[in-house]
Amino acid sequence: MSPKRRIVVVEDEPAIRRGVVDILRMAGYEPVEAADGELGLKESRRAGVDLVLLDLMLPKVDGFDVLAALRETHASLPVIILTARGAEEDRVRGLKLGADDYVVKPFSSRELLARVEAVLRRSPERPEPMVRLRLGQTVADCARHELNLADGQRVALSEMEAELLRRLALQRGQAVSRESLLSSVWGIRDGRVETRAIDMHITRLRNKLSGEAPDAQGQEWIVTVRGKGYMLGAEVEVLTDAGAAVAP
Ligand code: CA
Repeated sequence: MSPKRRIVVVEDEPAIRRGVVDILRMAGYEPVEAADGELGLKESRRAGVDLVLLDLMLPKVDGFDVLAALRETHASLPVIILTARGAEEDRVRGLKLGADDYVVKPFSSRELLARVEAVLRRSPERPEPMVRLRLGQTVADCARHELNLADGQRVALSEMEAELLRRLALQRGQAVSRESLLSSVWGIRDGRVETRAIDMHITRLRNKLSGEAPDAQGQEWIVTVRGKGYMLGAEVEVLTDAGAAVAP
């Protein structure tokens, strides 16, 4: 049996923290508690952590700062933020900072576990075809979650960005709808989830890719197809690792 997945729970309200810890333990995970942002960052950076559940309003260091700091060292560690009902600005800000998903408080155990499972399902243990792409002089490696620039520099991709790129590559030549990306990348089939979240991840991905400037024709690597969704630009070349099957 594979080792238990370790999940850091960063939440200052003891009742909520213990509730989440109990839910996770019952479901077979190994929760680690952190009652403030400083401790949360420290625990999240330890080896062997599979996912972080991060409250935003925290003593010492708030959740936004924890997320920003964590992304500097752990670009692809899955993070789900815990936000208050109605706090849409917080969700948007958290997603912009690189959170993979969010759960709105108060949440049911079923909802929490569904989000956790969906995010973990995409983790590197999944034997799915890995994809490498050439975008001009840049090579995107979706397995390693990084862009290799022409000058040898590397830019880290978040897990979500790498997965979005990979999904678009697997369905290349066609526009992929936001709803389809939500369900395949995030594992969410709930119509209430804002597809705008996808747009924000695409924007961040485009910003990282824009280090590689579009050519004179103004070509885009990720094209917006009005009313349909997103697709990879025709100039993107899909490279595959030996033996990896990639759907046409
Ligand atoms: Ca709090």
